[in-house]
Amino acid sequence: MAAEHTGHCLCGAVRLQITGLNPDVHACHCENCRRHSGACTMTVIVPHDGVIVHGAEAVATYQSSDWAARSFCSRCGSGLWYRFTEPGDQADYFLSAGLLDDLTGLKLTQEIYFDRKPDTWAFAGDTEKLTGAEVEALYAASPKE
Ligand SMILES: [Zn+2]
Ligand SMILES: [Zn+2]
Repeated sequence: MAAEHTGHCLCGAVRLQITGLNPDVHACHCENCRRHSGACTMTVIVPHDGVIVHGAEAVATYQSSDWAARSFCSRCGSGLWYRFTEPGDQADYFLSAGLLDDLTGLKLTQEIYFDRKPDTWAFAGDTEKLTGAEVEALYAASPKE
């Protein structure tokens, strides 16, 4: 199947071909995302087999919690994706939306860990807002597919 989307990091060392991307953009206001990105992360979900990575040798990964890891370009520092740590490498990609060459048709629909968002910034428009407890309850109820 031809890639529906392409994307790359700031320096271009990591290039992505993406299929099966969900056009809903999710913002995460948790402390880890805030520190890692500088504000909040904005991600789109792509199935584990929907990303072809060119320049994988430039990808560095930081295990940011017991359950997930964040990958970034080791040359330019661009945030690439967040994935749950699970056996078999089957976890979906929470891919940084800003990497995409074309964001046409993508829309911010959900903000998670909304209770951790500092008053410093706020997104306009209507989004579903979930607290950290609501997000964690959701994942506890339906563990990773
Ligand atoms: Zn780079
Ligand atoms: Zn987060």
